[in-house]
Amino acid sequence: MKKRKKLSIAEQIFIALAVGIAVGLIFMVAGWDSFATSYIKPFGTIFLNLIKFIVVPIVLTSITTGVISMKDIRKVGSIGWKTLAYYFCTTAFAVLIGLVVANLFKGTYTVLTTSGLDYKAAEPTNFMDTLVNIFPNNIIAPMANASMLQVIVIALLFGFGIILAGEKGKKFGEFIESANEVCMRVMQMVIALSPIGVFCLIVPVVAENGPQILGSLALVLLTAYICYILHAAIVYSSTVAGIAKISPLTFFRSVSPAMMMAFSSASSVGALPLNIECVQKLGVRKEIASFVLPLGATINMDGTAIYQGVAAVFIAKCYGIDLTVAQMATIVITATLASIGTAGVPGSGMIMLAMVLEGVGLPVEGIALIAGVDRIFDMGRTTVNITGDAACSVIVNKLESIKEARRGTVTSGESSGDTE
Ligand code: ASP
Repeated sequence: MKKRKKLSIAEQIFIALAVGIAVGLIFMVAGWDSFATSYIKPFGTIFLNLIKFIVVPIVLTSITTGVISMKDIRKVGSIGWKTLAYYFCTTAFAVLIGLVVANLFKGTYTVLTTSGLDYKAAEPTNFMDTLVNIFPNNIIAPMANASMLQVIVIALLFGFGIILAGEKGKKFGEFIESANEVCMRVMQMVIALSPIGVFCLIVPVVAENGPQILGSLALVLLTAYICYILHAAIVYSSTVAGIAKISPLTFFRSVSPAMMMAFSSASSVGALPLNIECVQKLGVRKEIASFVLPLGATINMDGTAIYQGVAAVFIAKCYGIDLTVAQMATIVITATLASIGTAGVPGSGMIMLAMVLEGVGLPVEGIALIAGVDRIFDMGRTTVNITGDAACSVIVNKLESIKEARRGTVTSGESSGDTE
């Protein structure tokens, strides 16, 4: 008898997503959206809660064990600057794509009335605040609040401390390594629930937002999605193929579970555990994945930057303002900085949009024009955000492997990051 092949987690998530969208549409047509919100969404929230609960211990223990295994503080610096360089350049490019395509499309946008708009902009954090906020003033609060950058700093410092303590730090290091192993198992249990989580997250979103997608913002949404796809197809494909020597198809296929998770949860942090698992299957070493990805989930937001560029052009059009080249250059800079300060949780990119609009003197109330469909923008931008993190991890992994191979320090059996 032929044994039935077990579906991979990617296939399961894909089916859950497709069925979830179909069920969401049925609920929308039948007018059962409040049922979806009241009884299906909570299960999605339970799933996200489980992810969020494990993500801090995972980041903390993975980065610390990563640093311990590198045995060299300078190596962290080498990975760090490569990661930051990739994140900055790709994000600036993302805004540029957003601005160019939105300007090409803007003639087709429906001009919405701006009189009587009411939007209370939350105080967006400026760049200096973000910088200060990287450094924790105590050890508990960052973990309790899941302040990812601070958690990363704590993990790095403890990793360095363990290396510097030498023999005396060994026991503490072993404890962290063992804790990391346990956290990974817990994470795998949670990840096994992803198909159910994805289904429960997507059904209410489709049921609630369906009618708006077809409304007057359809073309603005379409512009953003075209840019998301262009950015992934041009920037990620070329850098992954050119530097990491991985075929783009292999890359996107391997990362697809995390992409689908990001799409349905609209949270980079929510997709982080799955992303760590996906890139490790692509050959990225754990110490690199566990440093590059959490950092990316916090500061690397290419999709958000695209959205901010597109949104600025649309809002300007509604106010009858033509953006000058200087204003667009300002948008590239402010959106790059704003996306760094954007937290990897649903809706935060819209809050940071206020900073971009203020930077070029556009009315912040304009955000109210697109706030109703933010979730739809968010699903796409989050997918791009985490794909950029994954692309960076395979590239940094490759560059580090080349460097080590040159120095003859790659130990036999260690992955070089090549999958072909
Ligand atoms: N939801 C996005 C993320 O988690 C951030 C944003 O709102 O743009 O990556």
